[in-house]
Amino acid sequence: AKEDQGSSYHFYAEEMNKQALERQIIERDLKIAIPNGELEVYYQPKLDVKNNRVAGMEALVRWNHPERGFMPPGLFIPVAERSPLIVLIGDWVLREACRQVRRWQAEGLGDLKVAVNVSAVQLKENCMVTNVRQVLLETGLAPHLLELEITESAVMDDVEHTISVLENLRDLGVSLSIDDFGTGYSSLNYLKRFPVKRIKIDKAFVDEIIDETSEGVIARAVVTMGHSFGMEITAEGVEEEFQHEFLSKLGCDEIQGYLFGRPMQAADFKTFVKDKTAE
Ligand code: C2E
Ligand code: CA
Ligand code: CA
Ligand code: CA
Repeated sequence: AKEDQGSSYHFYAEEMNKQALERQIIERDLKIAIPNGELEVYYQPKLDVKNNRVAGMEALVRWNHPERGFMPPGLFIPVAERSPLIVLIGDWVLREACRQVRRWQAEGLGDLKVAVNVSAVQLKENCMVTNVRQVLLETGLAPHLLELEITESAVMDDVEHTISVLENLRDLGVSLSIDDFGTGYSSLNYLKRFPVKRIKIDKAFVDEIIDETSEGVIARAVVTMGHSFGMEITAEGVEEEFQHEFLSKLGCDEIQGYLFGRPMQAADFKTFVKDKTAE
């Protein structure tokens, strides 16, 4: 038995080493990814449920690693969040997304609203509000066309500080939404104080809608509660038509998911919007 323990410890230590090494490699490569042009922003459309039109899109970062190929954000964002890299990446995505919307405006695609993810680490940085203001000035994007998505766990991390940062961001004219709602532990009392325009129902609760007879208890509760706070509701991870119908009946304002469109490259997104507008 003693030997067993020894070897399982060994195995454990080796696993830990491997993970630490993997993190180091990702961090090392990520540092040069921006200057090397390896990052790319994909855009996933959001559907305005009431008028059946493209409401805007979410910017999602992609990394084309020169040797390893495509790296999903779920793999490198958590690593970036353990270093100042997340601030550099976050700024880059923000600037790129705002520029892209301006290009699309110039190309006649109309006023599309873009949502950019903000990490908890960025919220804690003093420069967050200054950076957003700077990017808006630089790109000339109207602030109301920018939405910042902040996860529920990030806003609940240091509530008083977060509220003051969010208020400063709101004062710039950008809109704010709480991402992955339902997975964290917001207190309703705080929720009321957040200057937030929108709640995004996490995919986990959309997944609970398995057919036409599902009750979708949590989705229903979030829509009711959000609306009574004067917020709009987006459901994410919508893959099935019956989920779309269900959420539409609940009065959900926007849906996002593979059913309507996957995250895509800027050029494909442009075609997507043109096709939808022509329909
Ligand atoms: P998220 O912000 O919750 O983004 C939604 C994720 O769900 C995206 O994964 C999207 O591709 C995926 N998704 C959308 N619709 C569906 C669907 O119908 N079915 C399924 N199965 N998945 C769907 P992605 O792009 O891999 O991003 C994962 C996470 O990485 C994001 O979750 C976000 O937390 C983070 N992330 C991505 N880009 C950025 C970024 O620029 N900055 C920061 N801080 N985080 C980012
Ligand atoms: Ca998001
Ligand atoms: Ca989300
Ligand atoms: Ca998520």
